[in-house]
Amino acid sequence: MKLVAPPPLPDELAVGFAGRIRTLNAIETVARTLKVVRSEFGGTDRVSSLSQLAAACSSSTASFALEHSMLPLSRAVTIYVGSKADARVAGTMMIRQGLLSLRENAMACPCCIDEDRKERGFSYWRRRHHLPGIDWCFLHQIPLQQSPKSTYHDQPWMALGQVDTSRHTEIQGEMKNTTLQRLARIQEHWLQMPHSIHAGALNLVLKNRCTELDLRCSQHGKRPVISDIALDVLPESWIKRYFPSLLEKRKGEFLQKIDGPAVDRHVAYPSFACALVLSVLFDNTHVAFEHIAAANEPYLHRNTPTSETAAHLALQTFQRGMGLIDACLRHGADQRAVERLLRLATGNQSDAEAVPKAALAVAAS
Ligand SMILES: [Zn+2]
Repeated sequence: MKLVAPPPLPDELAVGFAGRIRTLNAIETVARTLKVVRSEFGGTDRVSSLSQLAAACSSSTASFALEHSMLPLSRAVTIYVGSKADARVAGTMMIRQGLLSLRENAMACPCCIDEDRKERGFSYWRRRHHLPGIDWCFLHQIPLQQSPKSTYHDQPWMALGQVDTSRHTEIQGEMKNTTLQRLARIQEHWLQMPHSIHAGALNLVLKNRCTELDLRCSQHGKRPVISDIALDVLPESWIKRYFPSLLEKRKGEFLQKIDGPAVDRHVAYPSFACALVLSVLFDNTHVAFEHIAAANEPYLHRNTPTSETAAHLALQTFQRGMGLIDACLRHGADQRAVERLLRLATGNQSDAEAVPKAALAVAAS
C-alpha cells in the first residue's frame, strides 16, 4: 500500500503521530502501522521506529527526535557528553525508548483539545502534556486528563470516555506550588535541549549551591540535606504519588534518589530526580540554567580540565578580583576545592571557616 503520512504538528508526540498515520490510512493498530512504515521505508530491525517515522514525513532523525520524542528529556543528564560513546548510547536509546511517552497514562488537556478541533477539525497528543510529575497544562492552567496508553491510536478527544478525573481537586492545589512550577519549567526546557548535560557538570552546580545554602553533600553528618528541604516545600499529595520514600525518611537522613546527584559526579541520575533537585535548590530557573551551561561547556568541547587545574585557574581568577562563585563557574571548579587552596595560599589552615566566609563576602561585593 502507498502510505499517506501528514507533516507532524508542533510538539506532537511521536507515538501519537503514528496513531494519526494509522487513522489516515485506516490501519488496525499503531503496531501494525509501524510495520507498514518499516516496509514502506525499507528499514531493518536495527533502525529505530523513530527514524522510520522521520523518513515517512521527510524529516531528519535528529530533528524529529528533538521535536517529537521525549528523548531530549530522558537523556538530559548523562555521563557520555563529549565522549566517543555518546552517539552509540543515543542510538541504542532511540531504538529502545524512542516512542516512550515517560508517563503511565496518555495525557491531554481538554482546552487544548477544544482549540485544536476548532482550528484544525481534530486534536493531537503533545509532548508537553507528558512531563513526569506534572499533571496540569501550563497554557490553560487546568488539570490534564489521563486515559489508558492504548488511546494513542486515536485522537485525544476520542479518549474522553475513559478519562480518570478523581485527582483533579488535588492537582488544582499542587499547580500553585512554586517548586512544582519550577520542576515543570526545567523539564520543558530540557525537552527542547539539543545536547545533554554531563552528570559532573550538574554535580558541580548542585554542590556549589549546597555550599551557599549550608546543606550537606555527604551520607553522614549533622547539617540538613536536600531531601529535607524537598520534604518541606513539596505538597504531600504530590510526594505520595511520585516520591513516597521521601515521606518515610527521618530528618537529616540521606536519601540517595534525591541527595545522590549532589554527591556522585560519575553517576547520571534520572532527569526527573535531577530536575526536582534543581527546582528545590534554585528559586530562579534561569540562574540554574546559566550555571549549568557554564559548567557543561568544558564537557561539550571535550576539553575537560582536571579538577585540580580548574581549581587553580579559579583561584587565580578570584585573586584578580572576580567573585568566588563566578570564578568557579568560569573554570568549572568545585567551590570547596578553591576554598581549600585559598586557605593554603593564605597559610590559614587551622581556621577552616574564616577564609571561606571572607571569600564569599568578596564574592558578594
Ligand atoms: Zn491546554
